[in-house]
Amino acid sequence: MATLKVTDLHVAVEDEETKKRQEILKGVNLVINTGETHAIMGPNGTGKSTLSETIMGNPNYHVTQGDITLDGESILNKKVDERARAGLFLAMQYPVEIKGITNLEFMRTAVNATREKPLPIRKFLKKLDENLKVLNMSDEMTERYLNEGFSGGEKKRNEILQLMMIQPKFAILDEIDSGLDIDALQVVAKGVNHMESPDFGTLMITHYQRLLNYIRPDQVHVMMDGRIVKTGDASLAEKLEAEGYAGLKDELGLDV
Ligand code: ADP
Ligand code: MG
Ligand code: MG
Repeated sequence: MATLKVTDLHVAVEDEETKKRQEILKGVNLVINTGETHAIMGPNGTGKSTLSETIMGNPNYHVTQGDITLDGESILNKKVDERARAGLFLAMQYPVEIKGITNLEFMRTAVNATREKPLPIRKFLKKLDENLKVLNMSDEMTERYLNEGFSGGEKKRNEILQLMMIQPKFAILDEIDSGLDIDALQVVAKGVNHMESPDFGTLMITHYQRLLNYIRPDQVHVMMDGRIVKTGDASLAEKLEAEGYAGLKDELGLDV
């Protein structure tokens, strides 16, 4: 079992013009073990993407206090690629487009970067074929330049394909459901559910309860104003859907 632990995490970002630092995360605590599925929900602008970018090591996010550990060892000094090699994966809210690199080349490089020995090409292609089938994707998608001209739904599906190929210890899925119609959402959920194993943990970030009908979380955390203000089981997401974030704010006596 592996454990990803976030302790009293404070994160600041710098305003591009004024260069003033603004604190976004104000003491986040979270423990995720492999074999578990966690969800973070919360209104827009509360720091959900900031948390995922910080876990993955985006240098624009400055940790001012607290720690992030993987199996007890701090990862704060590791760069993005080192964190990926240590077993972390982030499916981004806005996947990047890369001209000149095919999806296939990108995935082979990413898969091999996280392994001691490269995966033989035949094994790689077999695995790719299996995963394409799970996601109802055509292999033509893998010959195209990474995310270039992909629709929103194709990009999200492609992020899940990468996830399935790389098989990290922990995946953070940042609003993987945004902009998806119900069919695409079901395919994405199928891919994530396919990953379920005692060696894999997921942190799903979502604005809506809808995704959680397809991927059942063990724990649901609600983030508001840079903190996790409540944690519960899957029923918490249903309660939120019914009562909205405003209801929870009243219940907790929060003024945010
Ligand atoms: P969420 O994902 O919950 O919608 P974000 O983490 O994207 O929230 O944003 C939280 C706050 O931090 C917002 O006020 C946003 O404007 C600010 N923020 C996030 N990233 C940056 C950045 N790179 N530079 C400046 N401000 C940022
Ligand atoms: Mg958002
Ligand atoms: Mg976000």
